[in-house]
Amino acid sequence: MTSALDWTKRLVSVDTTSRGSNLELIDVVSKELQGHGLRPAVLPNDDGTKANLVVTIPDRDGRSDGGIALSGHTDVVPVDGQDWDTDPFTPQIRDGRLFGRGTCDMKAFIGVILATLPDLARAPLAEPVHIVLSYDEEVGCLGAARMVGELAELGVRPTTCIVGEPTRMRVTSGHKSVNLLELTVHGVAAHSSLTPQGVNAIEYAARAIGFIRCLSEEFKREGPYDKAYDVPYTTASVNLVDGGSAGNIVADLCRAQFEFRALAAVDPNEVRARIQAYCDDLQERMRQENTQAHVELRTLAMVPGLDTGGASPAVRLGAVLGGIPSTNKVTYGTEAGLFQGAGIETIVCGPGDIRQAHTANEFVELDQLRACETFLENLVLHLSTPSPVTAHSAVHPG
Ligand SMILES: [Zn+2]
Repeated sequence: MTSALDWTKRLVSVDTTSRGSNLELIDVVSKELQGHGLRPAVLPNDDGTKANLVVTIPDRDGRSDGGIALSGHTDVVPVDGQDWDTDPFTPQIRDGRLFGRGTCDMKAFIGVILATLPDLARAPLAEPVHIVLSYDEEVGCLGAARMVGELAELGVRPTTCIVGEPTRMRVTSGHKSVNLLELTVHGVAAHSSLTPQGVNAIEYAARAIGFIRCLSEEFKREGPYDKAYDVPYTTASVNLVDGGSAGNIVADLCRAQFEFRALAAVDPNEVRARIQAYCDDLQERMRQENTQAHVELRTLAMVPGLDTGGASPAVRLGAVLGGIPSTNKVTYGTEAGLFQGAGIETIVCGPGDIRQAHTANEFVELDQLRACETFLENLVLHLSTPSPVTAHSAVHPG
């Protein structure tokens, strides 16, 4: 039997940086699942370069309806430009830590699932367990967004979902929505001695950038607030700007990326609509100078927030399995909001610390791996007890 540590190492050694394919990893996992008599559905993206994977371990009566989903993403962020002490795709253990890209975010969780698979596959489960693995989480939860529809098509209807993103095994029930927009301002070029003949794209983009700043100050000043977050209000920022061609040419192009992270009480579509209205107004003004000018606002990603109530059966299940109770909400986005939005009660609870995610020398503590192993062993026990305390019907002590 392969240990959780060995599985994690194996998964980390397959480079699944989001810009590339995840099919090699999906193949490794598929073969293992098939070895346990399971039939994974591999669901490719449009060009067939990546795939989601869904597999159901039916309950002891062969039923696959309802049950608990374990969700993870297979992709990792790039290591480009990072200063690693070791090869990021050759995992190494030092000082009680396993180093490598994706150890923490989030192949350790998938590794622990695979190590628990023999027990899961032969346990007399009171409810089915579904393993759902997605691609392209790191570039906007693209695979998971598609997965929601795929689950419905497959007739896989979990009642509860545990997303194993790194929370140090804290049962986490909330995160903000993550919304990334790209503004492109098309002006008109002219020699800089003849400014009235041009329309300055940078100067107009600067107004939009100022508007984003005003928006962020408004959220800070007027709320709404949620004290469960380190930053208890909606944030907005402009993090990338690119424009102009020379110091003496009126800029005909400027691009900027805006991001806002909204509390559950703030509708991201309403915020986006305000930004759109501002951009429309900007375009109007530019066209008074020259009708060729125009402004585009493109949505790069809108990942819904998560706000699972403390009374949710998912939160109770997390506690029953030994997850650490927590009232804190996390600052990063996950696929959890997508599942919750589809009516699946969802929490985030996984091994590792988000502070190590995306960094050089990313690691997961071996203690965290063990804690997650215990958590999933508890899941097997919990679902194997003669009169199980099911996630959606029962009262748990505490
Ligand atoms: Zn992640």
